Amino acid sequence: MQQPNMPAQAWTPTRAAGLARLEAFLPRAGRSYERDRNVDRGPADRSNVSGLSPWLRRRMITETEVITAVLARHPFEAAQKFIQEVFWRTYWKGWLEQRPDVLLRFEVERARAAAQAEASPDLRKRLQAATAGQTGIDAFDAWVDELVTTGWLHNHARMWFASIWIFTLKLPWQLGAAFMFSHLVDADPASNTLSWRWVAGLHTRGKHYLARADNIRDNTQGRFDPRGRLDEQAMPMSEDGPPPAIRPLPPAGSLSTRRVGLILHEDDLHPESLPLGADIAAVAVLAQPPLGDPEGPAARFERGAANDACNRAAKAFGVPAEPLEVDGIGHWARSLGVTEVATPFAPLGRAATALGQASSGLERAGIRLVQIRRGFDQRAWPHATAGFFRFREQIPRLVAELSGT
Ligand SMILES: Cc1cc2nc3c(=O)[nH]c(=O)nc-3n(C[C@H](O)[C@H](O)[C@H](O)COP(=O)(O)OP(=O)(O)OC[C@H]3O[C@@H](n4cnc5c(N)ncnc54)[C@H](O)[C@@H]3O)c2cc1C
Repeated sequence: MQQPNMPAQAWTPTRAAGLARLEAFLPRAGRSYERDRNVDRGPADRSNVSGLSPWLRRRMITETEVITAVLARHPFEAAQKFIQEVFWRTYWKGWLEQRPDVLLRFEVERARAAAQAEASPDLRKRLQAATAGQTGIDAFDAWVDELVTTGWLHNHARMWFASIWIFTLKLPWQLGAAFMFSHLVDADPASNTLSWRWVAGLHTRGKHYLARADNIRDNTQGRFDPRGRLDEQAMPMSEDGPPPAIRPLPPAGSLSTRRVGLILHEDDLHPESLPLGADIAAVAVLAQPPLGDPEGPAARFERGAANDACNRAAKAFGVPAEPLEVDGIGHWARSLGVTEVATPFAPLGRAATALGQASSGLERAGIRLVQIRRGFDQRAWPHATAGFFRFREQIPRLVAELSGT
């Protein structure tokens, strides 16, 4: 039976919309996903993938909910491929959390590459052509347009995009990663940065992803055919020094008082399922300046998601809930008269940085900021020490252990 199409543009920033999309996708999460997922049919037909990433990235719907709903519909063997994809995000987050230096190094190199582009008219011109979708490679130019106007790209298109940026256009990968990140409605520091590194051949050293014209033609159903336009012989990128060292995961926090303030942020907007075990005095949702166009799809989704979380939190806990900038956290927490503020654990990224800033101010006021880690991450992240294929072996056990967190 023909399934309804799900245009990628329909990003409604509410949990209800995420749940509705999940419900609509469930019949296709089994063998048909496994068979068809790699085909990019174009923006008018996204029915072969879930399009759930904007909601999953912010935990407006949780991995546990998605996997549980899928398994209520399909046997594990049939849904295995989809479930593995859901765990890719978990893997990337766990991997990065244990190698924070990789993100720090990326930020330094991105700033350096941006400065080089400022100083070099040739590089600047080539960058402008790429980010304006004026390279003359029809597929790439169309993906730039789709990314900027819808805030989303199919996974295969993201791989081709990154590969063409790095190996054909020969532009600094860090600036490509930053460009994509600033437009994506699902922008996720771990998934984005590490996927770009994976394409470049830096994640699995010496193993890169080369976009090939025939693969693009076949998997876009002939919409594009960049024959003769791509460098299909390029060598993987390399970087100096030993592979990044593994650090222990930061310890998970626990609350010691009965009444706390709760701060939500972009990494976890489902307070209803947070394992808190305390009464909540009030809820704040961390508001951060947009990364790209303030009226673009990503910024609109971000604002809408924060409002939706405020509305749900106020209803679930019967307390005031408001968006709050990082500078306002100290005053807000003191006004509640609490000695602890809880927050879902923030993996490396903007929320973690902002909460780190707020934490020292809170401490001076005698208030502890406690980061609560979900059991889902607690169980999975320690396994993300090597490649995904090693991590993948743990998935059946991790799925068997799902307990609603
Ligand atoms: C260069 C590059 C950059 C990327 N940047 C991001 C990013 O910033 N944010 C982001 O959420 N994803 C990123 N991805 C991963 C992936 O492309 C998207 O998660 C996926 O396309 C989202 O579409 P979907 O929800 O229809 O996925 P589906 O195929 O329906 O998969 C279901 C869910 O599994 C997860 N998932 C699937 N594939 C991946 C993957 N390769 N890595 C991590 N999670 C995955 C997502 O949560 C997704 O919603 C990137 C991939 C590449 C190659």
